[in-house]
Amino acid sequence: MKKDMFFMNIAFQEACIAFHKNEIPIGAVMIHNNFVIAKAHNLTEKSKNITAHAEIIVLNLASHYLEKKYMTECTLYVTIEPCVMCAGALFLSRMGRLVYGASNHSNLGFLGYGIRLHPKTTFSSGIMEQQCKLLMKKFFLSIRRKKKKIK
Ligand SMILES: [Zn+2]
Repeated sequence: MKKDMFFMNIAFQEACIAFHKNEIPIGAVMIHNNFVIAKAHNLTEKSKNITAHAEIIVLNLASHYLEKKYMTECTLYVTIEPCVMCAGALFLSRMGRLVYGASNHSNLGFLGYGIRLHPKTTFSSGIMEQQCKLLMKKFFLSIRRKKKKIK
């Protein structure tokens, strides 16, 4: 639990970086043998690429680092419940363990679609849930405010 908090906090810091770049504030870290081997945040706005989710970027970095396509010995920490695309990628990567902070309330979370993770993936949620959720809320509120100002 203490370890989960520690690594989720790193993912949360990534989410904060995204927030300050006006990206949807989601961050992720990949852990292998208790080491952070990759960390990333959402970059869909800057890259103009809908697949530039934190989880996908982290998967790519981790594969490159480990020179492996399967993540069976890794744990992924992500601040928000992965979307359908990311859950699919995590399935294919045979993720060892997935830990997420808060549920995705925009109806994009994989659980809402009845999508299952790989049978060998264990998962937990609710680590730093409030912080992760609040950061998202703050982000979408600020976007709404900006849109109102434009009108
Ligand atoms: Zn995603």
